[in-house]
Amino acid sequence: MLEGLKSLRFQIFLLLLIFGIVPGFFLRAGLLSAYEHRAVEVQTSDITGQAQLLATQIASSNYLSDQSEENISVQLDQMSTMYDGRILLVDAAFTVVEDNYQLDEGKVILLPDVIRAYRGETVQTYDRDNHYIEVILPIIDQHTSGTRGVLMVSESTDSMELNRGYLKQWALLIQLLIGVMVIVIGCSVSVVMTKPLKRLAKSVRDVHDGYENDFKGIDTYTETAAISAACHGMLRRLQILDETRQEFVSNVSHELKTPLASMKVLADSLIGQEDVPVEFYREFMTDIGEEIDRENKIINDLLSLVKMDKTSANVNISSVNINELMELIMKRLRPIARKQNVDLVLESFRPVIAEVDEVKLTLALSNLIENAIKYNRPEGWVHVSLNADHQNFFVTVEDNGIGIPEEDQDHIFERFYRVDKSHSREIGGTGLGLAIARNAVILHRGAIRVHSAEGEGTTFTVRIPLNYIEG
Ligand code: ADP
Repeated sequence: MLEGLKSLRFQIFLLLLIFGIVPGFFLRAGLLSAYEHRAVEVQTSDITGQAQLLATQIASSNYLSDQSEENISVQLDQMSTMYDGRILLVDAAFTVVEDNYQLDEGKVILLPDVIRAYRGETVQTYDRDNHYIEVILPIIDQHTSGTRGVLMVSESTDSMELNRGYLKQWALLIQLLIGVMVIVIGCSVSVVMTKPLKRLAKSVRDVHDGYENDFKGIDTYTETAAISAACHGMLRRLQILDETRQEFVSNVSHELKTPLASMKVLADSLIGQEDVPVEFYREFMTDIGEEIDRENKIINDLLSLVKMDKTSANVNISSVNINELMELIMKRLRPIARKQNVDLVLESFRPVIAEVDEVKLTLALSNLIENAIKYNRPEGWVHVSLNADHQNFFVTVEDNGIGIPEEDQDHIFERFYRVDKSHSREIGGTGLGLAIARNAVILHRGAIRVHSAEGEGTTFTVRIPLNYIEG
């Protein structure tokens, strides 16, 4: 129910209804009140005019003290018939000398309006509840300018009420007709206007049901076109993500299968031969052990990569002395460098303390330095430096090793990408080291760049903000 009220269709309908019907009420009320006002005004001025004429005639006659004068008596009768009302003639002593209803003749009336009229004022009243207009005016002697009496004329407004009622009925009828029209138009307009949105929702539902290639944009309105464009973009992104995921899964399976296949071959060849000497067993078992180590390394690297994933990042930030951290990494890698006959040097330009995830950063920097040692040449060198400004710290890992061909430089951060597959495999690479390093740096909202010349050497530069920026 509430959902229905929230629908755009209902809101459009409601708006049309409000703007189509409400003004009608005001118009009707305004029209009737204007009519009433104008009718009372015209009628009042009409009575006043007639009464004034009569008052002048009464003033110049002796009618107030002697009501036998035919002429005025006739006029008074005519007037009362014309206005379907009552006429009272009051003398200077406030005694009613004539009442065409014959109710108050001879009585004294001291109504405030009568007194006001006696003092020279013309009093006009409209009594809406009792349906009459009353005009009370003084009868002034032309010679002495004194008030000789008061003339009270009241007129029934029944005929005006009748017209008003008639007008009201018509206005109501017209308003009803407009109301019906607005409801019909409102219903159809709201249905037509919301149709593109419904079509768009259906398109999105189709995508949800698996027909993502059939997504049709709706360009009827600028808004629906914008939503359609956003949906297209989102679909494209989802497709890319899906492709990447599929590629990753097939790469992982392939990488995991390689050591298994080697182990199978080694085991099969041992089983296939009879009377194999013990040395053979030892040699083959050593090879199988190496393959197991390799499988283990791939799995560990994959786990590290998953942990670096932005979405599942359980980052553990603390204030770390980067100089000490670098020293520790160098200490751990020095034996490998020595074995490769590579000179490993660290140069720290200033003390650096930064908010980082120590484990993830260690992994990233270790991978870079280990690569510099692995892809080097005998008698080569690896130069690591640490520097900082007031916002970031910088680590550069420079070597004079084999270098990376220009065309491979854009891909080396991809998972499982290796420039020379067999060489990397020989030295125990998984193709995941740089992907892990890059993800760790991105997790810290930093940046990693490579600069390399084939045969000359490679430099990796890492920039990490000193203060951790929450993502
Ligand atoms: P791997 O486990 O193969 O070392 P990485 O992701 O660490 O995987 O590196 C990807 C590829 O980039 C490596 O196979 C190697 O060919 C190249 N590479 C990385 N670092 C260096 C370097 N310092 N000098 C030359 N080549 C490098």
